Amino acid sequence: MKKIITFVAIALAIISCKEATVNKQAQEEVKTPAKPAVALYTFDGGSVGANNLNLFAQGDTYKGESKELIDAFYVIKHPKGVLLWDTGLPEGLVGQDPYTTPDGAFTISRKDSIVNQLATIGLKKEAIDYIAFSHIHFDHTGAANHFATSKWLVQTPEYAFATGEDIKGNGFYAPDSFNALTNVMQLSGDHDVFGDGSVIIKSMPGHTPGHQVLYIDLPENGPTLLSGDMYHFQENRDGKVVPVFNHDLEQSKTAIANFEAFAKAKNATVYIQHEPADFAKMPVAPKALN
Ligand SMILES: [Zn+2]
Repeated sequence: MKKIITFVAIALAIISCKEATVNKQAQEEVKTPAKPAVALYTFDGGSVGANNLNLFAQGDTYKGESKELIDAFYVIKHPKGVLLWDTGLPEGLVGQDPYTTPDGAFTISRKDSIVNQLATIGLKKEAIDYIAFSHIHFDHTGAANHFATSKWLVQTPEYAFATGEDIKGNGFYAPDSFNALTNVMQLSGDHDVFGDGSVIIKSMPGHTPGHQVLYIDLPENGPTLLSGDMYHFQENRDGKVVPVFNHDLEQSKTAIANFEAFAKAKNATVYIQHEPADFAKMPVAPKALN
């Protein structure tokens, strides 16, 4: 009898152990649901010839240098909606010769309109649920006024600057390029756009009063960061160099530290939006980065 009881006890122990293993697997499956089908589309919003690269430093780091920069913008498709991140250079440039600013610092051009570009991935402008700019410098808001029905996600200090006195007469801004955006959602810090952690606007002021970057957790590419104008090209990031035209130097330094800490913690792939080499690493729409 004792032997039978021992046998039954061992058998029960084995069964419960197996059940525990099965339960553990089930729990793990619940804990790590499949990532939402987010796709990132990259577009050419024009070119910026930086004829005086030294503007992108505080001292004489790039004295006498020039560099051709890209002006990318992006569409993020999520099962719950569509986010447009930046819009490129002014559309008045399309079909024109490259334009050089009166001070000679920049030569800008744009090949195509945003409506044509969105059509290549089957989107009409009304399909854009949310619009957000890394910041409101003119080379990011150029085609914004098409999206009057979209919800504009903007940090409160950026919106205050956009609607205040200091923006007037400042050549880095073109308030008329985004004055049709009246469906405003002001943000005070980071914002989880679709509520599942896959697309997060990160507040990183300094370049402008409400500069922000975009974190996207893509199903295949994994954690991905669009850097806005945290940096303008790779050497900027390597040397943690702050442009002389940034809104606030100390805020910019803090933002760089926060950005690098976040990128490291997430093991994120960083794309510098104005860096041609990073643009070349991404599939260009209609192909998506998944
Ligand atoms: Zn900028």
